[in-house]
Amino acid sequence: MREQNLKLVSEEGIRIDGRRFDELRPLKIEIGVLDKSDGSAYVELGKTKVFAAVFGPKEVHPKHLALPDRAILNCRYHMTSFSVDERKPLGMTRREIELSKVIREALESVVFLEEFPRTSIDVYVEVIQADGGTRTAGLTAASLALAEAGIPMADLIAAVAVGKVEGHLLLDLCDIEDKYGEADMPIAMAPRLNSIVLLQLNGRLTKEELKKGLELAKKGINEIYQKEREALRRKYSGVSPVEV
Ligand code: UDP
Repeated sequence: MREQNLKLVSEEGIRIDGRRFDELRPLKIEIGVLDKSDGSAYVELGKTKVFAAVFGPKEVHPKHLALPDRAILNCRYHMTSFSVDERKPLGMTRREIELSKVIREALESVVFLEEFPRTSIDVYVEVIQADGGTRTAGLTAASLALAEAGIPMADLIAAVAVGKVEGHLLLDLCDIEDKYGEADMPIAMAPRLNSIVLLQLNGRLTKEELKKGLELAKKGINEIYQKEREALRRKYSGVSPVEV
């Protein structure tokens, strides 16, 4: 339970984990981290740690489910039971089913599915440790795993949550800010296309706050996008992985 006088934002404008309002948590991105998949990526944003793995394009089973004009994109977002404070039950919760759907829809808006008719592409997002922003970190990781699998896309996806906490708009909420804040707004973009591929809002924001929140998210998303591109360059230029 939250302590009565726990302040999430100090009078000096510093957040509970020492960040400024418009600051991302330390971000680490690695591509090609799993041997058994066609593409994989790892994204760590502060204490949030997520793997994504991609299999395919491959033949659809049973065959009659195949689509004649495009690939089927399957997506599973899952939190390991040890990723959260209160051990999560095994199996898929309603929340995980919903997040699998919104992640799939966001990916569908950038992947050229029509290039692989009668096939399926499977995307797995596995949350190893959760501290807020798992759907957005998962989406970022999934787009990199698709890129490593060689699946053509209009753009990478970069995603982050912004929110309102104690009246302040903050970039990249951690768990405690998400839980006790007034609003939480995960946003994913295809930055080169300047297109929003996911936007959700829990809580309430005024029109002005929504506008400012979007600007704040864009700033974070551009930083994440640069790190994604650096990670891809590192991977394909043969330089050994270093923290970015
Ligand atoms: N969370 C949790 N148990 C759950 C689901 C979520 O402890 O069963 C925590 C976890 O830290 C997660 C945060 O609540 O990152 C915020 O969850 P939300 O549903 O807003 O999704 P997210 O921000 O992770 O995309």
